[in-house]
Amino acid sequence: MVLPTVAVIGGGASGALTAIHLLRLARASGTPVAVTLLDQGGRHALGQAYATTDPHHLLNTRADRMSALDGEPDHLPAWARATGLDVTGTGYLPRAVYGRYLREVLAAAEDPPARTVERVTGAAVALENRAGTYAVRLADGRRVRADAVVLALGNRGPAPLPGVAAHPRYVADPWAGDALTGIGDGAPVLVLGTGLTMVDVALTVTRAHPGTVVYALSRHALLPRAHPAVPAPPVPVPFPEGPLRVADLLAATRRAVRENGGDWHGVMEGLRPHAQTLWRRLAPDERRLFLRRVARYWEIHRHRIPPASAAAVAALRAGGRLRLLRGSLVSARPADGGLRVRADLDGALTELDVGWLVNATGPGSDLTSDPFLASLLASGTARPDRLRLGLDATPEGVVLDATGRPNERLFALGPLLRGTLYETTAVPEIRAQAAALAPRLVEVAASRAARAQPVA
Ligand SMILES: Cc1cc2nc3c(=O)[nH]c(=O)nc-3n(C[C@H](O)[C@H](O)[C@H](O)COP(=O)(O)OP(=O)(O)OC[C@H]3O[C@@H](n4cnc5c(N)ncnc54)[C@H](O)[C@@H]3O)c2cc1C
Repeated sequence: MVLPTVAVIGGGASGALTAIHLLRLARASGTPVAVTLLDQGGRHALGQAYATTDPHHLLNTRADRMSALDGEPDHLPAWARATGLDVTGTGYLPRAVYGRYLREVLAAAEDPPARTVERVTGAAVALENRAGTYAVRLADGRRVRADAVVLALGNRGPAPLPGVAAHPRYVADPWAGDALTGIGDGAPVLVLGTGLTMVDVALTVTRAHPGTVVYALSRHALLPRAHPAVPAPPVPVPFPEGPLRVADLLAATRRAVRENGGDWHGVMEGLRPHAQTLWRRLAPDERRLFLRRVARYWEIHRHRIPPASAAAVAALRAGGRLRLLRGSLVSARPADGGLRVRADLDGALTELDVGWLVNATGPGSDLTSDPFLASLLASGTARPDRLRLGLDATPEGVVLDATGRPNERLFALGPLLRGTLYETTAVPEIRAQAAALAPRLVEVAASRAARAQPVA
């Protein structure tokens, strides 16, 4: 029997959570379905965030919020305890452990022969739609047939740095394969960016060699804040009705923090579940204003690091092994044993000799840097959202074509929906999207299966 097929392109957390929710719902409703989980790097159920093997790379989110299953907060802590790990719901597991968890939950969701996952390693380069059936074309010429397609492509790699050419000691994408493993010779490392990726890079390279000093450079030199040792209960933040302005957001948030005795953690907990709705209430110009003026402060307060990582960062800074620099990179060129970097530091042009340069500036925003996305845009199958942060889609993840019409069987979730939802990169948000997509995918599978039945 040919099973109805759903192709999920991108095998990271978004792809794995989609497959898990789809398979579980299909099993509950007795619907046959074959999932093809396509990942160009073969990092199925790991993706960019959970492929790390460094045990010091911790989840930034406590265990009881990282369950793979919507509505079952104890699922991950219970799995971890059954695996022999000592973690409470408010603890922070290593990301590598979380990757193992996702792999196991995905395997457990399979129910062959009626509900299967085929893990395919290959890069999707185009999507063909012939008479209502999709074919995903891979770079090596293979084609994957599908009745519905889910785009779970994650983030683009960091944007190229102007003034920096390729060099063996320039790490253009710290999440590409084993990009950081070479950095263990004790030479100074300049990291561009001071966010979550910089924290990971600094922890890895300073552990790899006791003499390594890390310079972290960004325009504002703002570090991610730390989670409190004891989680703060959510504080409700009232907002005015009707169209919302950034000024309203800031005023209501500041008032809530004041009324909470200056403690912003509870206010952030109160805001978090409403972030997508608040974003959608902002007009396009207000969204642009938010990105220009507020986003960098939102990010460091919203995406915090665990207390243990914060303590490690503080110790590195106190020991002079992590130094924050405020300014911008001008250029980098080869020099003896590494690179000579020119940077504008607080208005002063400065030269710095480093052994390594790492681009941790975060996801690039050019959608067309990805050949697959470029082909979806060129064919008119998809269009960018107004701010070009990702693809234009309905809030439920139905991808809109170049004319704004919904593609009935083409969906997206995760970072690709940034323009539509803004907060869409962390597991709790992605998991909710995967759970909401599952019934639509089961519906497609059920109708295909019904059509395939021989007429009596
Ligand atoms: C370092 C780091 C730490 C994080 N920590 C946390 C955390 O603690 N808690 C939390 O909630 N969130 C965390 N996040 C957020 C994280 O982004 C999500 O949890 C999740 O990993 C996003 O998964 P994704 O599948 O959308 O993207 P990705 O993990 O990027 O996966 C997308 C996959 O698609 C593949 N792909 C892309 N294009 C193609 C193509 N054309 N063909 C085939 N394959 C393709 C990519 O190779 C990749 O493997 C973290 C993120 C990072 C980067």
